[in-house]
Parts: sequence; C-alpha cells; structure tokens
Amino acid sequence: MSIEREVQQQPGVAPDQPITQGGPTLPQERRLVTEIPGPKSREMFARKRSAVPPGIGTTLPVFVTHAGGGVLVDADGNSLIDFGSGIAVTTVGNAAPRVVERVRKQVADFTHTCFMVTPYESYVEVCERLNALTPGDHEKRSFLVNSGAEAVENAVKVARHATGRQAVVVFDHGYHGRTLLTMTLTAKNMPYKHGFGPYAPEVYRMPMAYPFRWPTGPENCAEEAAAQAIDAIDKQIGARNVAAIVIEPIQGEGGFIEPARGFLPALLAYAKANGIVFIADEVQTGFARTGRMFACEDEGVVPDVICTAKGIAGGLPLAAVTGRAELLDAVHVGGLGGTYGGNPLACEAALAVLDTIEADGLVERARQIGSVMLPRLHALAERFDIIGDVRGRGAMIAIELVVPGSKEPDAAITGEIVRRCHAEGLVVLTAGTYGNVLRFLPPLSIPDTLLEEGLSILEKAIASV
Ligand SMILES: *Cc1c(COP(=O)(O)O)cnc(C)c1O
Repeated sequence: MSIEREVQQQPGVAPDQPITQGGPTLPQERRLVTEIPGPKSREMFARKRSAVPPGIGTTLPVFVTHAGGGVLVDADGNSLIDFGSGIAVTTVGNAAPRVVERVRKQVADFTHTCFMVTPYESYVEVCERLNALTPGDHEKRSFLVNSGAEAVENAVKVARHATGRQAVVVFDHGYHGRTLLTMTLTAKNMPYKHGFGPYAPEVYRMPMAYPFRWPTGPENCAEEAAAQAIDAIDKQIGARNVAAIVIEPIQGEGGFIEPARGFLPALLAYAKANGIVFIADEVQTGFARTGRMFACEDEGVVPDVICTAKGIAGGLPLAAVTGRAELLDAVHVGGLGGTYGGNPLACEAALAVLDTIEADGLVERARQIGSVMLPRLHALAERFDIIGDVRGRGAMIAIELVVPGSKEPDAAITGEIVRRCHAEGLVVLTAGTYGNVLRFLPPLSIPDTLLEEGLSILEKAIASV
C-alpha cells in the first residue's frame, strides 16, 4: 500500500513500539501502518457488535488507545488527524497536561461525596468562574450536572418555575439532546426521535434564520425569520404563556448554521419585553470554540440562562446551568441536583480547562484556526461547485454539499468524502438536517502542520469525487 510506504519514511514511533503516553507528548504526525480500520480495530468492532446495540452508532470504527495534541492513535498503531475533538469536547486537547495533573491528584484524594450531601470547594469555584466568564455583569448563579441534555432540561425547569408558565419555543434544525424533553426540543426525526414518542408537551418550533436556505435570500433572512417567529409565538401560543426561548447561538448538529446577524438580538428583545427567559444552548459553541469564550458574545447577546457542557472539562462528564440569580434562586431548596452532578474529578478538570484556555490564549488560537481553514475552504468552494456554502467561526467550521447548480442537499457525496477522509487518516464528522454538512472541530491544541495536512486530505477527497 502506497500510504504505508509513504508513512514509514516519516520519523516517529515504529508501529511495534508501544506508546506509553497520550496527551501532547504523542508524535504530532499522521501515520498509517494498516488500512483504516486495521485488523485489531476490526476485531474489537466485531466484539462491539455482539455486546453493544447498534443504536449506539459509530462514525469511524477505529479503537483508540491514545490521543493528544491533534492526533488519535488506534489499536493498530495508526495515528490519525483529529478534526472532531470527540464532538467539540477536547477543545484543550486530549489528556491535556493541566487536566491530567489535577484529575490525578483529585482521584487519589477523594472521588465522590455527592455535592448535595457534603460539598467541596472545586464545585463552588467552577460556579464562581462560570458566573464571571459568561456574558453579562448581572448577579449570577450556576449549578452543575452531567450532560448537555441535563443542563438544557434543568434550564427549562428553572424557567418554568420562575415564570409560572409552560410553553417552550425552539427552532428548526435545533439539537438539544436525547432525553425525553430535549429530544422533543430537537428538530430532526431520524435518528434522534424516530419511534421514541410520545414527546413532551408544550414545545413549539419556529423557523430558523438559516441564511443559505432562506427563500428570499440571506439579506432578508434575519428580519423575516424573526418576524415570522414572533408572529407565530404571539398568534399560536401567546407570549404570556411562554416560559422560555431555547436556541443555539450557532446550531451544532443542525449543520453549523449561523443565524443571520440580527436574529438573536431580535429574539432576545422580544423575550425581554414579554418576560420570557432567553436560554442560550452553548453546549457545542462554548469555551473558546468559536473564537469567543461564548458564541453569544459575537452579537453582544446576554442570555438570561446559558447551558454549557462539551468543552467544559476536557472530556470528563460535566455540564452547567448559569443564569440570573433571581431566576435560579427562585427554585425551592432541594428542587435541583443529581447524584453525580459536579463530580470532583470533573470539577478539577474544568478548572484546569479554564486555566488552559487563559494561559495558552486559546480564544485567540480558535480564531487563528478559523483564519487558516476558511480561506482554504473558500478557495475550494471556488473550484468545486458541490460546495454550496462555507461557514462557521473560529474552530467551528463547516461546508454544505449540494447538487451542482442547485441547493439540493447531497448527502451521498458527503458520505463518500467522509469515507475517503477516514481512509486517509483524517477524522471528520458530518452534521445537518439533510446529512450534507461536513463539520470541522479540531482541538485547539492541533499544530498548524496537521491542520494544513488535514485540509489537503479533504481537498484531495473532494477532488476525487
Ligand atoms: C451535544 C449537545 C447537547 C447534548 O449534550 P449531551 O452531553 O450529549 O447530553 C445539547 N445541546 C447542544 C447544542 C449540543 O451540541
């Protein structure tokens, strides 16, 4: 195999030499020593098939043994370029040094008490830092849970309790999780909802300001979409019945849709005027990913409540609800919580992540990554008319693939490009209501050399289809 010859000439660890450490000490190189997936991964995948239900899908069936910087190393000794960050989670890199150090110490000190039984300082410190970091200088409170879905559910609980209202407004292409309520808030039937009903009541979906697909063109999108949404809320629900508007400032699973500028501020103003809690779901966009600490900042949007997870703790399960003190304080004692929420290992990891973002200038690094990726992708879009749109901010970038000369989504060609990238050792993910979006979420610890090499692989894959 030509790939094999090519890579064996590169310096680095020989395939039979055991890799003993992950994190940034891993050689930062793409190195393919078997086909992808290799024999060991294939063997484990067969085991997965008999032990785990297929409902738990697999993007790329290589079994990982080490990861760090901008690479994932698999059981066969292949080193792959990571453009996925485990879905925007390992923003600071896998096994990031500060995370490893703090978690290692914590796991030896104590692993759990339940914060609601006997508290510990790290939980409070994470909340203090979230209160200070999130948009707005009003008095805030935070509490910690285990997943993005749990954060969104809890934000809705808080909004309903504080307003005494029930309706929740969400948007086309939105994704908010897989629990009963958040699955209901999610727009897309397949695979998230199909056959899992009945869904939770009092959820209303409005049009999204999706510039690429707005019928009258992107320049009218913000104003018309906001007017339609507001009119529908007024007429169909009644503003006084709405507890919360829940929206992602850039939609993640829906296809990295950046709402047309002006849409979010218009919804926020409407929410404010009508006593509706504005909840920003920053689970995917948060923590430096978009070249801002939070994507809301881009338009000066100050949400009442903000949900965070994914990038918060370097891969340890943690999520948070942060919001106006008067809203969060409205809930009775014991009304919020959960056994594991704010687990001490996850809290230590989160503190390490926040330190790393600051010390390593990762907000700026995300912008640099965007400024490397966007010009190359725009140039590709000039050459290949299957690329209908290039969008995103910072290290949250996507291309939308269409049938040339139209806006008709082309999911088949998207899948084929992904397969070719994977075969060449580039981990990329898809997204989008129509399955025709390729999304790029590299860890902010990726070296520029790998970023450029990954883009070259993508270029070749697109050229070859
Ligand atoms: C991933 C995601 C969620 C759900 O988070 P989980 O941790 O998977 O429950 C919610 N909202 C957004 C925007 C997400 O990207």
